[in-house]
Amino acid sequence: MVVPDTPESVAAVLTAGNWVARGNGRAYGDAALNPAGVVSTARLSHFLAFDDVAGVLTCEAGVLLGDITDALLPRGWFAKVTPGTRFVSVGGMIASDVHGKNHHGAGSFGDCLQWVDLVLPDGRLLRASREVEPELFAATCGGMGLTGVIVRAAFGLQRVESSRIRQRTLRAADLESALAIFEAEQHATYSVAWIDGLATGARLGRSVVHLGEHARADELPAGAAPFARKQVRRPGVPVDFPALALSWPTVKAFNEAVYRLSATGERLVDLDPYFYPLDAVPGWNRIYGKRGFVQYQCVLPLAESAVGLRRLLTAIAASGGASFLAVLKRMGPESFGMLSFPMEGYTLAMDFPATPSNLTLLARLDVITAEHGGRVYLSKDACTSAAAVARGYPRLEAFREVRRRFGLAGRIESMMSRRLEL
Ligand SMILES: Cc1cc2nc3c(=O)[nH]c(=O)nc-3n(C[C@H](O)[C@H](O)[C@H](O)COP(=O)(O)OP(=O)(O)OC[C@H]3O[C@@H](n4cnc5c(N)ncnc54)[C@H](O)[C@@H]3O)c2cc1C
Repeated sequence: MVVPDTPESVAAVLTAGNWVARGNGRAYGDAALNPAGVVSTARLSHFLAFDDVAGVLTCEAGVLLGDITDALLPRGWFAKVTPGTRFVSVGGMIASDVHGKNHHGAGSFGDCLQWVDLVLPDGRLLRASREVEPELFAATCGGMGLTGVIVRAAFGLQRVESSRIRQRTLRAADLESALAIFEAEQHATYSVAWIDGLATGARLGRSVVHLGEHARADELPAGAAPFARKQVRRPGVPVDFPALALSWPTVKAFNEAVYRLSATGERLVDLDPYFYPLDAVPGWNRIYGKRGFVQYQCVLPLAESAVGLRRLLTAIAASGGASFLAVLKRMGPESFGMLSFPMEGYTLAMDFPATPSNLTLLARLDVITAEHGGRVYLSKDACTSAAAVARGYPRLEAFREVRRRFGLAGRIESMMSRRLEL
């Protein structure tokens, strides 16, 4: 792995060999891996400019979302789109065209992106935006690092009045009730449901739905500092958990407790635990033990969501694959990125211990997803097939054509791009 510290040194690296960019390594699978060569953006970590009137940040691609929040939240600015961890780089957010709990209203990261500066394998530094090199721009947003190394970007932030979220929590007894809540609450800025992936029968899809709004200054307790933040760090996971800890009865009991004990109603919560619950648990991934885990995240078109989700959840519960709570989310219109994941409908995301039977289950889930016109999220994927991706991403051929046109095919590659023939 090389760790260049200027765009010029990235260009010098790329002129020979076969490379992929790596941000902060938070993608779940093999997207940022390439045995032939990895270009880390860890040292491209400078803020370059901030327009405090328009809320537009220009920075290098290795800047982490958490650093942006730490620097600009006290000045009243927050990301327009944030994934579920602050430990992601700007380049990673662009390459995955990440979505947040507000996708139904705000779209994905590409929607707040103004331009990117890319280094190509021939050493060129090219700016791409909606106006300049629009096809390269559309291939880059969600393009999994396969259009060159993003070295700089400019994107908009949103104004907020505090570091708190006004959270409203509702319980849904089954899948239909959960979907009905999402549809009725489309005006909510943020919405997400924790769904019990082990519930069956009449309780299939039972969920706890969290809605959220940025709290206004006048909604805070008297005397509260508007941008104060509590950095809660729970004890880490010191050793790899034994498999027994994640057995079916343990997870079932855990899911039951979350469903029963979640306090419904409205309350003010801190922004960090609201958006980034796992960030407070160092080494959370070790809970799955030495064998590790895989995540499955798919999205189904709106018209197919109710039936398709029922089939997915039935297959998951029947497998006894013992997964902690899953996440369900309503997505808004499809993004412009050629390989962007979001489409209007519902996305389901769930972790599974990486056992042979769960890997078989994932192949079954791929079939159900495809039969309902859905697609798998590449950033979370480690297992899907080239055929499933070709079916789920109709603009893949246009993406490949951009790769050929800019001399990227064969020069910028990852283990994922080879596995999935991207
Ligand atoms: C706990 C957790 C929660 C998450 N929640 C969400 C969520 O809610 N929504 C969501 O959309 N995603 C979510 N993700 C996924 C995560 O946002 C993406 O995988 C993101 O791309 C990771 O950024 P990174 O900097 O770690 O990139 P990496 O993991 O290092 O790389 C990911 C991809 O981006 C490419 N890339 C990185 N930097 C550059 C660059 N400078 N130029 C070109 N390509 C580059 C890589 O080649 C690779 O293909 C979550 C991940 C975790 C671990």
